[in-house]
Amino acid sequence: MTESTGPLTDPAGLAAALRFDPESGFAGVDPHSTPGFDGKKSDGRSAQDADAPLIRSAQECLHANALAPDGARRALVLVLQGRDAAGKGGVVRHLSGTVGPHGLQTTAFGVPTDEEASHHFLWRVQRRIPPWGRIAVFDRSHYEDILAVRMHELAPRSVWEPRYETITEFEEGLVLNGIDVVKIMLTVSQDEQAERLRERIVIPEKAWKHSASDLEDRLRWHEYSEAFEDVLHRTDSDSAPWYVVPSDRKWYARWAVGRILLHHLEAMDLAFPPADFDRDAALAALEDSARTIAAD
Ligand code: ADP
Repeated sequence: MTESTGPLTDPAGLAAALRFDPESGFAGVDPHSTPGFDGKKSDGRSAQDADAPLIRSAQECLHANALAPDGARRALVLVLQGRDAAGKGGVVRHLSGTVGPHGLQTTAFGVPTDEEASHHFLWRVQRRIPPWGRIAVFDRSHYEDILAVRMHELAPRSVWEPRYETITEFEEGLVLNGIDVVKIMLTVSQDEQAERLRERIVIPEKAWKHSASDLEDRLRWHEYSEAFEDVLHRTDSDSAPWYVVPSDRKWYARWAVGRILLHHLEAMDLAFPPADFDRDAALAALEDSARTIAAD
């Protein structure tokens, strides 16, 4: 029997292990694997619980800096992409529950509305860039303006092809100005996707998630793989890195994405701003307040 040990690496080590590797590519990552983690589901849950206060504290530090007159002005955008039923929604729920609504804003980018479609494709994304101190999680993103447009032939190649470069420059601009961009490609196996899509068909509470177009997209498995591969190869950079996260085990994907986020927050190397008030005077005022209330 193998002994479960849980996390094998620190956040930086895990991020390095899951960083997109152009040599092995998207295809080279086994969706069923659990790099950097030796354990079972219950160990994964414990590891998520152990990381939660660290992630929360790191975000609070980001926020405290944003409020301080001399604090760092930083924010972070986490992009989630992947096939249908890869688990993007579950990761979003996990991160929202971990950080809380005050520190994390989520946006699901669906088919553009008429208003969105009447603007440059980055318009709706710009509007969801977080204020200083916050984390934005994108459930799908500007990458759909390449992926969905290409796969569903919504516009000719001459329209989506230049977007690799436009997006790279856009993200570079964010990073240069204090907004980290962290990009996660979830990868799920054919069997696991089939099982998740099957659940949507047979379990009444999941029927609302069923979409016939997901099955049509599934038939084009290899074409999607190529499209993901192109996105990863053409838009990965050290400043706005892609990570490929195995997602057959939901608990692993949730833990791993949380840890990659933690790594990027820690790499900002922020400290809580020093108190800008007289501590003794504040303590004395607090004690006085107790006496005043008691005498009231
Ligand atoms: P999900 O599948 O993420 O749970 P939906 O069922 O609402 O959510 O699907 C969102 C759909 O919107 C996807 O099929 C996606 O490809 C599509 N979409 C997102 N962004 C764009 C875009 N910029 N252009 C065209 N389609 C898009």
